[in-house]
Amino acid sequence: MRDGVLAVLDTPTLVIHGGAGVEPGDLTAAEEADATAALEAALRAGHARLVAGKPAVDAVTAAITVLEDAPQFNAGRGAVFTHDGKNELDTSLMDGASGMAGAAAGLHRVKNPILLARAIMDHSRHVMMVGDGAEIFAKEQGIALVDPSYFRTDKRWKALQQALREEARAQASNTPLVLPGKAYFGTVGALALDVQGHLAAGTSTGGMTNKRYGRVGDSPIIGAGTWADARCAVSGTGWGEFYIRDAAAHEICARVRLAGEPLAKAADGVINHDIPKAGGDGGAIALGADGSVAFPFNTGGMYRGWIGADGVPHVAIYKTDALPMPGL
Ligand code: ASP
Repeated sequence: MRDGVLAVLDTPTLVIHGGAGVEPGDLTAAEEADATAALEAALRAGHARLVAGKPAVDAVTAAITVLEDAPQFNAGRGAVFTHDGKNELDTSLMDGASGMAGAAAGLHRVKNPILLARAIMDHSRHVMMVGDGAEIFAKEQGIALVDPSYFRTDKRWKALQQALREEARAQASNTPLVLPGKAYFGTVGALALDVQGHLAAGTSTGGMTNKRYGRVGDSPIIGAGTWADARCAVSGTGWGEFYIRDAAAHEICARVRLAGEPLAKAADGVINHDIPKAGGDGGAIALGADGSVAFPFNTGGMYRGWIGADGVPHVAIYKTDALPMPGL
């Protein structure tokens, strides 16, 4: 099978993505090296938890925390800007063993949103919290809060200015606004299969460049951007409105559970057929309890990687980069 579509990994294992919004030519060689190093660090951080016998949710949380701290990705530190020039972060986490989940949206001050998703899952009666209330809960839980300027990076600021110029040009010439596409998204996600055979999934994002106030994408929505059950775990990245309408992450796992489809076929069907047919684009990572894995995407690249029992990280960025897979 072609890159990322089907392979079976040894357990314990961890699979990550750093967003489908990267295209050939977008990055300098130094930026590629930095992104690769950050992906490898995230894989190692999660792998360390798994080999210590920790549950899959610990590995997912550890890997995503590293990616949130890396300015290369649209999550945490490197989050994109809203139309109003703010950073508004969304996240979710799901434990496939227990079916428990935590999610938060519209955050401005939580340094590592995935840690808040974890606290909501573990220490509240709720699944999802938004905005100020979520940040009050974060403070009560001792989760690090930062000044909103922490999330300001030059690269993302310039991307917003370009998006605003494109929007103004379209309005001035009375042409239909070109809807946001791959240049506007990113996101990070992780899936783990622990030594007990349990799965977990998590996703964290700044959303889409130039999003309007209060806009929430798929990433913090359980079933849309994130899903984990006993057999299947998924984290998505792409044009969130389409992932929400398709309940994309849940749909992939439902096809595995109810229709008996192989994981790779289900993931490919939803991401590379249903989402583009509806007008969207993006990618996802999917991991089965049997170690089957898939990295479908329909953009020019998707930061992606995996690490198995031997602790050697494997990463790729562009579509043309082969991601080494066991047995392929
Ligand atoms: N799916 C995210 C959203 O729509 C963006 C992304 O994946 O980069 O908010």
